Amino acid sequence: MALAAGAERVAAEFEYTKEDVNRGVQEFIRQMDEGLQKQGATMSQIPTYVTAVPNGTEKGLYMAVDLGGTNFRVCSIQLHGNSTFSLTQSKVKIPQQLMVAKTSHELFAFLAKQIELFLKTHHNDHYVTHVERRKSYVGFTEEQVFSLGFTFSFPVQQSGINKGTLIRWTKGFDIHDTVGKDVCALLQKEIDALHLPVRVAALVNDTVGTLMARSYTSPGKTGTLLGAIFGTGTNGAYVEKLERITKLKKMGGVSAFEGETGDMIINTEWGSFDNKMSVLPNTPYDRALDKESNNPGIQMFEKRVSGMFLGEILRRALLTLVEDKSVPLFSDEHSNQNDFHSTTTIHEASPLWRQWGLDTSFLSITSGDNSAGLKVTRQTLENDYEVSAPSAEDAEAVRLIASAIGKRAARLSAVAIAAVVISTGKLEKPADIATSNNASLEVNEDNIVDIGVDGSLVEFYPNFEDYIREALREIPQIGPQGEKRIRIGIAKDGSGVGAALIALVADQGRKSEFH
Ligand code: ADP
Ligand code: MG
Repeated sequence: MALAAGAERVAAEFEYTKEDVNRGVQEFIRQMDEGLQKQGATMSQIPTYVTAVPNGTEKGLYMAVDLGGTNFRVCSIQLHGNSTFSLTQSKVKIPQQLMVAKTSHELFAFLAKQIELFLKTHHNDHYVTHVERRKSYVGFTEEQVFSLGFTFSFPVQQSGINKGTLIRWTKGFDIHDTVGKDVCALLQKEIDALHLPVRVAALVNDTVGTLMARSYTSPGKTGTLLGAIFGTGTNGAYVEKLERITKLKKMGGVSAFEGETGDMIINTEWGSFDNKMSVLPNTPYDRALDKESNNPGIQMFEKRVSGMFLGEILRRALLTLVEDKSVPLFSDEHSNQNDFHSTTTIHEASPLWRQWGLDTSFLSITSGDNSAGLKVTRQTLENDYEVSAPSAEDAEAVRLIASAIGKRAARLSAVAIAAVVISTGKLEKPADIATSNNASLEVNEDNIVDIGVDGSLVEFYPNFEDYIREALREIPQIGPQGEKRIRIGIAKDGSGVGAALIALVADQGRKSEFH
């Protein structure tokens, strides 16, 4: 088989049709409802105890840390109260050995150390005076302590605004003794060991932070409906009607919130949507990836959508073609046919031979490659992936398959977004009016549905949002009219500002308890 035909055959395996999208949406809505009704459903639909989104007038100096999956960020945030903020941050890659450490102490001590480093660098005056006070316990008051929002982007069973136990690790983390423990307490213990003037005030999921940050910064008075992450992992948090969270009533927890907004932010944990595989697409590459992952059968939606996995899907698809003798991908014509490694131009030491060896950023590079003869793709293959002298045909095949994987991820993302928009009924009213008047709908502040997104994939993968929008138009309950009313904005530094906003809300709650 010619190379182009072989690549087209593999790319076609990643096609996710209009019918697939619509079937996905129906099932997504069903699993969302199930999660609201009972504990232990595939989609956890975790109540966050946050009952309102900010409006942009909030003020103060806060700290935030974010354990996201790939990096650990520490920041301080000054909220100016006019929808703007100033942010100082540092970022460090999490060492691989700490992600699979023997004990929680190793990871959390490292995190506390980064907080110390940040305070010394950016808030040294504050740091010096307060470390001394804390050591001596003389003249130490609550006001002199930073309130910190801890963004922890893994599934937790939250039991209060700064209390929550880890349900399971995802995204390549695996530290047995953390499961079932309160992650805020683990971090506070290591902070106290260093005598830092910091109080872990709120436990924040990055999606909730994204939702809060977007709502603080978004233009106009409309509150944001959904915060969604497409980074190392994928997840979403949205504003739900309290009365629809029937499992909260069973837990006896709803009365405390009555008289408030009537809403509560729900952390969907949609990465585990359809773990039973009733509607998700499943190529041989998806299957192999899952089988050889450290959590087979879990996070099945995430494994088809997010940055941690797309590179690995592509790597497996490419190697399948390389091993197919009838398709000349990366093939070395002058080779010794008896020695497998010498029949290919992929060097023996290439990361392409290793699990997780292909980074998802490569999908962005090749999918967006407009250079003549795909020179950029060829150079990246040669320099970063140790393929010698890849041809333009090789690069074309790689781009075709990478684009198919990226597009499928975006269309699956649209399924999640659509399900939230449809199940919350946010599009219904004004659209009905428009249809009955048979007039074309004018999109304005009153009928817009605002969505905040964050993560390298949605930020950097070429046309990711356009692919999402194309799929949204293919869903009858949304259609071209509804799609226009959905405003999607990047919530930059979302977890930092969002976490600060939740720390602020938590402080207000504490103060009102004391009065
Ligand atoms: P986190 O999820 O840890 O908060 P990010 O949002 O930056 O961090 O996502 C990191 C993930 O995004 C990694 O899996 C990485 O492979 C992927 N990634 C990084 N750069 C790009 C890019 N340019 N295009 C697509 N994916 C990328
Ligand atoms: Mg993130």
